[in-house]
Amino acid sequence: MQHRYFDPEIETASPEDLRRLQDERLVETVRRVYRDVPYYKKKMDEAGVSPEDIHGVKDLHLLPFLSKEDLRQQYPDGLLARPLSECVRIHSTSGTTGRRVVAYYTQNDLDMWEGCCARALTAAGATPDDVVQVCYGYGLFTGGAGLHGGSHKLGSLTLPMSSGNTDRQIQFMTDLGATVLCCTPSYAAYLAETICERGIRDQIKLKAGIFGAEAWTEEMRHDIEDKLGIKAYDIYGLTEISGPGVAFECEEQHGMHINEDNFIAEIIDPATGEVLPDGQKGELVFTSITKEAFPLIRYRTKDICILSREKCSCGRTFVRMTKPLGRSDDMLIVKGVNVFPSQIETVLLNNGYPANYQIIVSREKHSDKIEVQVEMTSEMFSDSLKEVTARERALVADLKGMLGIKCDVRLVAPKSIQRSEGKAKRVIDKRNLYEG
Ligand SMILES: [Zn+2]
Repeated sequence: MQHRYFDPEIETASPEDLRRLQDERLVETVRRVYRDVPYYKKKMDEAGVSPEDIHGVKDLHLLPFLSKEDLRQQYPDGLLARPLSECVRIHSTSGTTGRRVVAYYTQNDLDMWEGCCARALTAAGATPDDVVQVCYGYGLFTGGAGLHGGSHKLGSLTLPMSSGNTDRQIQFMTDLGATVLCCTPSYAAYLAETICERGIRDQIKLKAGIFGAEAWTEEMRHDIEDKLGIKAYDIYGLTEISGPGVAFECEEQHGMHINEDNFIAEIIDPATGEVLPDGQKGELVFTSITKEAFPLIRYRTKDICILSREKCSCGRTFVRMTKPLGRSDDMLIVKGVNVFPSQIETVLLNNGYPANYQIIVSREKHSDKIEVQVEMTSEMFSDSLKEVTARERALVADLKGMLGIKCDVRLVAPKSIQRSEGKAKRVIDKRNLYEG
């Protein structure tokens, strides 16, 4: 059947056609924000760039970046580009790490966003015949509203469950024959475990799940897929940009296609702001080119990703992004190389070490040194000295493979790294002591 939310003219457009569409929409967006949003005018004036300088995506790099701090400073409506009378909805970030950000939507903005979510559902195999159980939170959070709207647009039967109340979730899932599950990956894992424990897997009809809004690993994906007998798809989005559905996975399950008719993605070096070519790792930056009420120009997400334009077997030509590999706020520069603690953590976890570690960076005679201290498990601790040395050597090799630079490794006794209340202090950068 013809899928309403798989439009080959857009989603499989040639790179040239797609670029032409982006050029047109970008030029229009930049003119509009310069005219209608004093804050954008001020930023562009300060950067010495006028709307006439922007002829298309090739000129995007001339425009100043927008940070979360800008958004917070302009709380609640300093970046609003349309009169309030034209806005029909707000959503908001959780504000756990500072002031909230409020995002405004016109009806067209909601249609665009829900259309992106409908594309994500379609890519996961959903049709009007499906029953979509949405157990993301409803309310200010965008998770519930986004997938709910997408499911509506697609014409699927939508179960607006919101989060929590696992007994009720499972009852509706079985009684109403839900076929597509939308929630956070951790809740999907919990539901899967509960369903297996209760021995009722043969009573559920799920075939696919769309899981996002938090980090998850491939192991977790396989675990959920096995337990529920489904295909599990990743989805990406931030409230500031519109919500989930900015990017979504297809049946290939290898990176998320970015809805490039609505968003232009760039990868930059987080330290210098320089735009990096596809295939290189850096900070993901988004420019919205169809949003009316709350357009964002070069918004720095702080998520570290890689973009790929390799041909995808699904036929879509939209660029693909990896899931976030870390956060740019955490980045260290060691020997001129960008190092993310999350990369080190991945290597440690893959090698069976507990998540108790510390990264110590120091400088000796103008040369940076990085040491990773990690606790052994109690089983490892009873190993012979020879075995421990072999383990250390293996870790050094794996870390070099991941980071591209040599790290020293010190395996320490279980529970010997100081525990902290709240957020663990993983990185000790001693270089700052000398640099004042
Ligand atoms: Zn694809």
